[in-house]
Amino acid sequence: MRKKFKTNSAIRRFIMTIIFLAAAAIATSACGSQETGSGGKLTVTATTGMIADVVREVGGEYVEVSGLMGAGIDPHLYKASQGDVKKLDGADIIFYNGLHLEGKMAEMFEALETRKPTVAVSSYLKEEQLHAAPDQETGSHDPHIWFNVKLWISATEVIRDTLAEKDPAHADYYKEHAAAYILKLEELDRYAKEQIALIPEKSRILVTAHDAFGYFGEAYGMTVTGLQGMNTMSEYGSKDVSKLRDYLVENKIKAVFIESSVPKKSIESVIEGARQLGHKVVIGGELFSDAMGDEGTEEGTYIGMVKHNVDTIVAALK
Ligand SMILES: [Zn+2]
Repeated sequence: MRKKFKTNSAIRRFIMTIIFLAAAAIATSACGSQETGSGGKLTVTATTGMIADVVREVGGEYVEVSGLMGAGIDPHLYKASQGDVKKLDGADIIFYNGLHLEGKMAEMFEALETRKPTVAVSSYLKEEQLHAAPDQETGSHDPHIWFNVKLWISATEVIRDTLAEKDPAHADYYKEHAAAYILKLEELDRYAKEQIALIPEKSRILVTAHDAFGYFGEAYGMTVTGLQGMNTMSEYGSKDVSKLRDYLVENKIKAVFIESSVPKKSIESVIEGARQLGHKVVIGGELFSDAMGDEGTEEGTYIGMVKHNVDTIVAALK
């Protein structure tokens, strides 16, 4: 008898515990939309490392950021993994580049947009600030906006305003951090202009594996050409190789650049072709184009990445 009573009370305690936990869960989900995620911080998922870096700078201690694409990853070809879908599902805000950079994720963003702020950092840019894409296959604009630091200031403003709107309690904090970061970006923009100007004018020609540097060239005064077109999805053929080879020979270009997120064999075949025609070209170094360097290194930040590229280009062509 006594034993049975004890069991009943244990069951009752168990049921009460479940009711309490359920009530607590309902109470938690009912309070403030931004109180989800980790420890009251906004959770943000960003596609490229460049975007994640800016979110970290602007969001500081109130934002938990995860980037989907690490060092060496090509965003044009990137497909979301199972783990990525989880991160995107769990985030309070999603930032992506837009302009079809993340070509294989567009439908996913459309679906997410109906449930949470899913924002392209290129969304403040006006038509006249954008370059047309040479082929209309995957979109009408060049997506590589981060290579004009001025355009990346606009991306910073998109991030600032989105964070402030979602989490108004810390809006002033986000504005202050964005303002401080924008000052650094303006300094970086000046640095790039000054450094590129050190290269003799006729040598200001930048040859890379794919056409990522159009905005860079326009902003800092270089003629830019790539082997593979603007999108790494498009294949290059032997015609592209011989065209670029002839361009190198004709313009007496002495250095070309490989990219961290594009296999280097494409550009190597151009160098070999030029060598057979008696023109010596060297690899001027590795540039970070569509992905930053390793996490924890200088080049693993947006500012460090741009500086690395500028310094590498200047050292090879000066
Ligand atoms: Zn690209």
